Amino acid sequence: MSDVKRVDCLLIGRFQPFHLGHLEVVRKIAKECDELIIGIGSAQISHTFDNPFTAGERHLMISRALRADGIKDFFLVPIVDINQYGVWVSHVRSMVPPFERVYTNNPLTKRLFSEAGYEVSASPMFNRSQYSGTEIRKRMVEGDDWRKFVPNAVAEVIDSIDGVKRLRDLVQGGADAGD
Ligand code: ATP
Ligand code: MG
Repeated sequence: MSDVKRVDCLLIGRFQPFHLGHLEVVRKIAKECDELIIGIGSAQISHTFDNPFTAGERHLMISRALRADGIKDFFLVPIVDINQYGVWVSHVRSMVPPFERVYTNNPLTKRLFSEAGYEVSASPMFNRSQYSGTEIRKRMVEGDDWRKFVPNAVAEVIDSIDGVKRLRDLVQGGADAGD
């Protein structure tokens, strides 16, 4: 038996969409950790301006982007919100393989996992003014270039589901349009 301590790591995000900043974090984690687990948060939400893509679409974007980048060994787990912070960590634990360390920059996520005894690592922010879901969604709606901020595989998935049109329609109408 080896004495080397395993470090299996979890990255949680909404990935609306998965962009090059996320990819940089994943590359770093893949180097630093034994197992790479990615939790697709707010999995139940789609078709809103802040969360346009379904968990299945995000799953496809992330898995194709990682494989194209040569990262083959990862777990992708959709995680629905429960809106009860006191049991959030147990909820996540029940959905994903065992892990020891969490990578996040979200202050609440940091607090909840460190209170539960997990090691929490802040990931450095890469080119945050551009590698940001909010910025990319804004560019899609306004017709500015967004493809250069996401892995090619992600742009391909978004094109294949006509994602930009979906986002524009959501901004114009929302779920109640026509009522
Ligand atoms: P949104 O603007 O929709 O919130 P986001 O770009 O912040 O999108 P999230 O899915 O909210 O993306 O983030 C998931 C995780 O990735 C968070 O811990 C977040 O801090 C981190 N992250 C987001 N952008 C970057 C970046 N450019 N570099 C490094 N980490 C990032
Ligand atoms: Mg965010």
